[in-house]
Amino acid sequence: MTRQTMEQKIQDILDAGAIEYISTNGNTAYFESTSLSDKSIRYKEEIVISDDDKLSGECDCPALQWSKADPKTCKHIGSAIAMMKRDGIRMEYKAMSNDDDVVVGTVSLQIERDDD
Ligand SMILES: [Zn+2]
Repeated sequence: MTRQTMEQKIQDILDAGAIEYISTNGNTAYFESTSLSDKSIRYKEEIVISDDDKLSGECDCPALQWSKADPKTCKHIGSAIAMMKRDGIRMEYKAMSNDDDVVVGTVSLQIERDDD
């Protein structure tokens, strides 16, 4: 088996429909991906938009900790960002009002509950 580039791995995930956009809350976009080698394994990704419109990703897959990139990345984070570009998911930072902050707080509580 030949070693794939990151771009090829990302394309495989997108082609297989193995990543799903969940929602955007505030300036964080949430995704869930399925392992292509074992469909029972699912990973969660969070893409955070900073106030200079830069994207940084978090993923709970084991590959992320071995990443030599700076900042660390993985094919799931790459796929999530590629999907945001492809599907027109908001990638620009949006200043939040106080009302929105309350909503964000509620959502993070729900996420903690899901992890139980
Ligand atoms: Zn990952």
